[in-house]
Amino acid sequence: MSDHIHDVIIVGGSYAGLSAALQLGRARRDVLIIDEGKRRNRFAARSHGFLTQDGIDPAVIAAEARAQVMEYPTINWLAGRAETAERTETGFAVTTAGQRHLSRRLLLATGVRDILPDIAGLEERWGKAVFHCPYCHGYELNQGQIGVIAGSDLSMHHALMLPDWGPTTFLINNAFEPDAEQLKNLDARGVTLERNPIEEITGHADIRLKDGRILSFAGLFALARFELASPLAHQLGLQLEENPVGSVIRTDPMKETSMAGVFACGDAARPMASVALAVGDGNLAGAGLHRSLLFGAI
Ligand SMILES: Cc1cc2nc3c(=O)[nH]c(=O)nc-3n(C[C@H](O)[C@H](O)[C@H](O)COP(=O)(O)OP(=O)(O)OC[C@H]3O[C@@H](n4cnc5c(N)ncnc54)[C@H](O)[C@@H]3O)c2cc1C
Repeated sequence: MSDHIHDVIIVGGSYAGLSAALQLGRARRDVLIIDEGKRRNRFAARSHGFLTQDGIDPAVIAAEARAQVMEYPTINWLAGRAETAERTETGFAVTTAGQRHLSRRLLLATGVRDILPDIAGLEERWGKAVFHCPYCHGYELNQGQIGVIAGSDLSMHHALMLPDWGPTTFLINNAFEPDAEQLKNLDARGVTLERNPIEEITGHADIRLKDGRILSFAGLFALARFELASPLAHQLGLQLEENPVGSVIRTDPMKETSMAGVFACGDAARPMASVALAVGDGNLAGAGLHRSLLFGAI
């Protein structure tokens, strides 16, 4: 174990973590970023909705961000998985394979892992023909036929939104039964209902129903649940915030968690997810961490 104490260890070197690192590097702070390279959007070929980077490969955005941040000489990068995190007398200790790293403050920018519906053919089309965010991928469907696969009555939200992007069929798939009010709302939005359950997804975005019919779509939307991508928040005993499709780490407005000195940002610490929001969140966390180093106690 090295006894060097970094100012901040950032676990997660994607959009949120790099954005925080940028602030800290510009304040000439000693930062160690630990990242295992599994961005949430790694399944998609294009990222949309982030000003100046609209339509760019998300891997290119991340690589360019990393190159810019690594220009700052006080920022260090370690490729690998952070296995454990704990409080020490002087701050925090994080372990990676065979190594223990120390810091005065800790940032979790570890993102979330999507838990996809168990439908044959869905996983391999995730981010390519099956999506969860209309703002990210709806426009590119060019107003073609859209299928919304219900996961529960929460999918009503998708079904009522998607007609703005194309004629929408709501595939109920035995997930729930819309009540009279919901049926009225779906009708008002011109949504077609399909109650026959799904057998599999084939081709680009073709749904083969159990009754043998095949419905072809330009794209599909499905409700994914999510979980924190790393167990570090649980290990530290941080408070979480429950949401209908998954829990995120609870933070204050400057992104400090329920444990003094531990910050969290990006998808791991906010219910609404996008690259732009992750970058903004990281920017706040970077400033919050710097302020904590200067004036805070842990
Ligand atoms: C299919 C798909 C398409 C999307 N398309 C868009 C889009 O077009 N536009 C848009 O704005 N948003 C899009 N999103 C949302 C976007 O991907 C997320 O909002 C964004 O990636 C969040 O950034 P983040 O830095 O918080 O987390 P992530 O980008 O998920 O990065 C988290 C990082 O932490 C690392 N990590 C986690 N645990 C550990 C650990 N223990 N040790 C070391 N490293 C760890 C991961 O490997 C990863 O590198 C999409 C999401 C999906 C699923």
